[in-house]
Amino acid sequence: MTDIYVYNTETRAKQKFEPIDAKNIRMYVCGVTVYDYAHIGNARPYTVFDLLYRLLRHVYGTEHVTYARNITDIEDKIMQRAADEGVGIKTITSRYTKIFKEDMQSLGSLDPDLEPKATEHLPQMIKMMRDLIEKGHAYVADGHVMFHVPSMENYGRLSRHSRDELVAGARVEVASFKKDPADFVLWKPSTDDQVGWNSPWGRGRPGWHLECSCMVEEHLGTEIDIHAGGQDLIFPHHENEIAQSECTHGKQFVRYWMHNGYLTVDGVKMSKSLGNFYTIRELLEQHGGEAMRLSLLTAHYRQPVDFSHDNAVEQKKRLDRWYRLVDGVAPASEVPSSVINALSDDLNTPKALAALDALATSETAASLKAGAQFMGLLMQSSDEWFKGGLGESIDVDEVEGLIEDRLKARQNKDFSESDRIRDRLAEMGVLLEDGPSGTSWRKAD
Ligand SMILES: [Zn+2]
Repeated sequence: MTDIYVYNTETRAKQKFEPIDAKNIRMYVCGVTVYDYAHIGNARPYTVFDLLYRLLRHVYGTEHVTYARNITDIEDKIMQRAADEGVGIKTITSRYTKIFKEDMQSLGSLDPDLEPKATEHLPQMIKMMRDLIEKGHAYVADGHVMFHVPSMENYGRLSRHSRDELVAGARVEVASFKKDPADFVLWKPSTDDQVGWNSPWGRGRPGWHLECSCMVEEHLGTEIDIHAGGQDLIFPHHENEIAQSECTHGKQFVRYWMHNGYLTVDGVKMSKSLGNFYTIRELLEQHGGEAMRLSLLTAHYRQPVDFSHDNAVEQKKRLDRWYRLVDGVAPASEVPSSVINALSDDLNTPKALAALDALATSETAASLKAGAQFMGLLMQSSDEWFKGGLGESIDVDEVEGLIEDRLKARQNKDFSESDRIRDRLAEMGVLLEDGPSGTSWRKAD
């Protein structure tokens, strides 16, 4: 059996993956909050950890792996959006849940086995809070239920934050009724016009951290193999999930914590104010799912990945090359070991993609196809790829050369030749416009 190695954030070390039960491997990835189109940074964890899911299924058997990715459908941003549009929160959450799932499919990620929704786990949340209060880890104050951080001896071990950092992280929840400044919210009261559920502590709504702890327990159990997400979730979200789950159940919650690095755009942090903010949807329309997937996998998942249009175009050309080679070729029955070995080494995707490049020859095209398909690439026929308009990108040098040849033909009054070149360009999807200052061209719609 192939050994899988993963970098565990908790131990800060690459470790051999030893499942709790090889016949029942459980992984959980924190899902999105469904209040708007997801941005390209959101796509990264669901693309890289999809590869982990594929790898685990390959090594342990499809039926022995369960992957849960939740939908966060209670959150203040959702309530704000619903209020702005004058609709109920269900309208907002079902719209953006559908869009998110379509985006993930376009990016070539497999559907998780389970997609639990926070709103369907209120009884579990109330039960966990009751347990935590009973065990002295939580208290009720001013309509809130608060987790009491000093009640947990090793709180902060995942992020390794200092006491000052822990307090600073909880500053958004500064309140006079907190027993300790690092205490965090499990439940908060809702006003009459806000979404809320009845609880023993009054009408209110859960904190985000509590939602994940309860969905993990309900669907995967009290101890799981892998919990993953973006590195921005290490603190406070994952730290607080550990606190809630371990103080409730009295045992280690997660064996391996995995976190992906940030995504930048053209070398800088993506932000709406910088004008470099992209939704997954708009980039899919521009570059297509496979080129986007490949772009996201070019960097190792723990490193930052930089998105640029130039890189997406480069990756599309790489796919063009591969698609030309595998045209009419059936995939090999075995996934190449070079691909499996690279991914088994803490999801080393740059190495796995280099392995695919090494297989990009006419003799090894069947292995190339098998390896690429394992990674969710080359999923179309070459015919579909090149006809779909998302394949072969226009070669600017070739276009300009042909336009020059056509000009020469016209100067020589060789109109049949100039027409022939115009037709050739049209076939390539290039439209010519002759004007007083010469010929310009554009890509046909
Ligand atoms: Zn979570």
